[in-house]
Amino acid sequence: MATYPELCMIINGEKVGVEHRRTQAIVNPATEEVIGQLPLADSADLDRALATAKKGFQIWRDSTPAMRSRVLLDAARLMEERGDELAAIASMEMGKPFAEARIEVHMNAGLFEFYAGECHRIYGRSLVRPRGQRSTVVKVPVGPVAAFSPWNFPIGNPGRKLGAPIAAGCSVIMKSAEEAPASGVAVLQCLLDAGLPPEVAQAVYGVPDEVSRHLVASPIIKKLSFTGSTVVGKHLVKLCAEDMKRTTMELGGHGPVLVFEDADINHVLDVMVPHKFRNSGQVCVSSTRFLVHESLHEAFVAEFAKRAAAWRVGNGLDPNTQMGPMAHERGLQNITRLVNDAVSHGAKLHTGGHRVGDRGWFFAPTVLSNVPLGSEIMNTEPFGPVALINSFSTYEEAIEEANRLPYGLAAYAWTNDNKRKQNLGIDIEAGMVGLNTVMIAGPDSPFCGLKWSGHGAESGPEGLEACLVTKSIHEI
Ligand code: NAD
Repeated sequence: MATYPELCMIINGEKVGVEHRRTQAIVNPATEEVIGQLPLADSADLDRALATAKKGFQIWRDSTPAMRSRVLLDAARLMEERGDELAAIASMEMGKPFAEARIEVHMNAGLFEFYAGECHRIYGRSLVRPRGQRSTVVKVPVGPVAAFSPWNFPIGNPGRKLGAPIAAGCSVIMKSAEEAPASGVAVLQCLLDAGLPPEVAQAVYGVPDEVSRHLVASPIIKKLSFTGSTVVGKHLVKLCAEDMKRTTMELGGHGPVLVFEDADINHVLDVMVPHKFRNSGQVCVSSTRFLVHESLHEAFVAEFAKRAAAWRVGNGLDPNTQMGPMAHERGLQNITRLVNDAVSHGAKLHTGGHRVGDRGWFFAPTVLSNVPLGSEIMNTEPFGPVALINSFSTYEEAIEEANRLPYGLAAYAWTNDNKRKQNLGIDIEAGMVGLNTVMIAGPDSPFCGLKWSGHGAESGPEGLEACLVTKSIHEI
């Protein structure tokens, strides 16, 4: 098994260590042991990264699609080769089961492979004009991108922040999560080892608000790509508005799951229970508000609770573990508070609802039913292993509850009625809708939210498009 690496930033291809800098302790959430000290960027580091990104853009915007494609393909291969090491690092710094982290590596390699192909397909158009005149519409890379991502997918999030901009010909300054920094650096290292010029992509860490203010204020940065909570996303959009900088915002969610009376509940539970407890529920597209037809509700709750109570919680590096700890202590405190609040409002607790053990930030898989709409957990993203299971009687009632919140990231529904499926796709206000499936994301499809869940997209041709700007050029 891999050992946890010495932590660093990567600026202009060089490893930048602690030296004189402020540091942040990195803690393994399964053991509460300090496993590393992360150097935090000062303003001189950020200025150096900015100057490098400017140079990197001049180099990379003139690269050929074939060059970009080769780097992405080789990086994908390196990721697969280093997959076990990367997965172990991710598990050590944020707690997820090794097997989940290994899938994340594989999916990220798939994203790089997709963009290795897609970068050949950046087209403009030529307009019909009289002889001697020419008008063309071209797509060019937007420029140096600042990209900030959270800890919940320590490999996948940095991969998304880097893949499309590099395919488009942009340079990137990435600040992946301070809570899971070695994973972000390891992803970047695959690209650098695959031949990406060191000026093109860099990794910095720091005090998040300091870093974002510094980078966004610089005229060198032309776009901000952020994945994280809605509250921080709104703050960053305001910062960007000052200079009209482009933004892609992948923000929070509160995913509804509609289970209609014709669904096979055993099959639904086979899919939804693992989905609920994946990554300890710390997933933006997690299934959060289950809305089950009243004819199935009681049986659904009972079986969900039975399966949840048997779910194996432990250290992510133990192959028997199905669910790791919360990634940080504040997550554990938050989920405990939200469950207590729901119960005090009258929700029924069927299983869980408490910390597991007294070392490591483990929280028991939890099932609540009949959760009042006024309780906080029905309105804010819980980001924890809690299933909220309420009932409905009519289609209209289910849609109204599904759309009640200002979030619109992922939604799921289970029914065998084709007409109803078609209507659900239209009626549910979410960027991604899974009908009889939870497979809503892939390298070739846009990952995107509506309403408070953000704007723009990552993955798919849409993710590449978001790193390009359109120019209209006219000649005589
Ligand atoms: P958060 O917004 O507090 O932090 C997310 C990341 O942004 C962290 O790395 C943090 O250090 C950084 N950050 C915080 N303030 C910042 C600032 N002012 N400038 C720059 N960076 C800043 O959220 P969190 O609770 O740590 O992460 C979970 C949230 O992320 C959830 O709301 C989840 O839904 C969301 N998320 C969304 C997606 C998506 O694609 N829509 C994917 C994963 C996570």
